Amino acid sequence: ISTINEVSPQRQQNASTDPIKSKVVKEIERIAANREQRRVKHEKHRRKLSEVDHSIPAWEFQAMINEYRQQLGMKYITMNEQQKDLRITVCVRKRPITKKELNKKDIDVLTIPNKDHVVIHLPKVKLDLAKYIDNQTFRFDYSMHELCDNELVYHFTAQPLVRSLFQGCNPLVFAYGQTGSGKTYTMGGDLSQRDVDFSKGIYALTANDIFHHLNNSQHRGQYDVYCTFFEIYCTKVFDLFNDKKRLRVLEDHKNLVQVVGKKEERVETVHDVMSLIRRGMSVRTSGTTSANEHSSRSHAVFQITLKKKNTTKEYGKISLIDLAGSERGRDTQTNDKVTLMEGAQINKSLLTLKECIRALGRNAEHIPFRGSTLTKVLRDSFIGEKCKVCMIAMVSPGSSDVDHTLNTLRYADRVKELNVDELKQR
Ligand code: ADP
Ligand code: MG
Repeated sequence: ISTINEVSPQRQQNASTDPIKSKVVKEIERIAANREQRRVKHEKHRRKLSEVDHSIPAWEFQAMINEYRQQLGMKYITMNEQQKDLRITVCVRKRPITKKELNKKDIDVLTIPNKDHVVIHLPKVKLDLAKYIDNQTFRFDYSMHELCDNELVYHFTAQPLVRSLFQGCNPLVFAYGQTGSGKTYTMGGDLSQRDVDFSKGIYALTANDIFHHLNNSQHRGQYDVYCTFFEIYCTKVFDLFNDKKRLRVLEDHKNLVQVVGKKEERVETVHDVMSLIRRGMSVRTSGTTSANEHSSRSHAVFQITLKKKNTTKEYGKISLIDLAGSERGRDTQTNDKVTLMEGAQINKSLLTLKECIRALGRNAEHIPFRGSTLTKVLRDSFIGEKCKVCMIAMVSPGSSDVDHTLNTLRYADRVKELNVDELKQR
């Protein structure tokens, strides 16, 4: 028996090494395996398709996007991720799709597969009417998926810059994106409830951190803290702490740019800062029909300044900027003269801003900050070796905003060009 048992596997092996027999066996096995693979794939596909809401006109696109997502191994960013010490940081934040968007049958066309990539799925139709999705991948310093909260966004964007404030720097944080993409939510906090909550916005989180640093023995009793808040509409500057009084922008003989006469409010607690934000924001939108209607046309600049005790000279200043809606810069389809002029100014300021940051990134001698009022006012922050800039590009996930979203991703990509890594398929 033992001999038979020994021979049998030997013969099997002979069969598979026998060139003629093994070819046939292998072919049969291959066909069987393929059939099984196809069966599993179709079964999976059927199941996937059945998860899709077929009442949505774009359901086929939704199914394709779902399938793409299922092939990716998602690995989201968490607080455990290392904070990077960067001169220029570019971060993309996706907001959740809203009920309103779902009601108008929008589908979610953005995927954040990991901590630094973004994939936009462009629904396309071929000449023969076959539908397909064109997936475009971008890479940034950080990418935040729709469930990230403001604290996580703050941790990787403004927080590293607060430290530099205590080294006498003038860091900049920008919220960029189309109207409705979440700029004010990120900077100011959740204003959608009746009881608005400013405490989780980047303004308040930054102030909180600054006061925290001031309580360290190293800094205690050394600085006074001031806030200013103004908005830039076209080439004009208005003080939000002083009933929108018009402010002048002057350049002195040493090329120092000053916003003359802006009201500085001394603050001692985060509460002081939050009540100032409340005041400034209500002044900003007073007399307008909707908050977004007004804020889409102007840039809001909130600054927190440190001064050494009993001096008037600014030691360090952080500027937190809620930019005008990026879609406004492309508003060229209108006959309204004022809207056209606003659009042209917004376009100019956003392009100049991008060029200033790019110039900073390559250590250029010349920074083109004179190109717009926004960059002129922020001149101090663009000059000097230690300046740091963070751009948070906000994106809406809905398919009806896909063109604006693509433009935002392209803009952010131009601010700092990073190579895209190949996304790992499962
Ligand atoms: P923007 O200032 O860019 O025009 P908003 O900040 O006003 O946009 O956001 C538009 C709407 O989306 C608001 O109702 C806001 O509450 C909501 N929103 C924005 N971002 C988020 C988010 N990350 N999570 C939940 N809701 C958000
Ligand atoms: Mg806004």
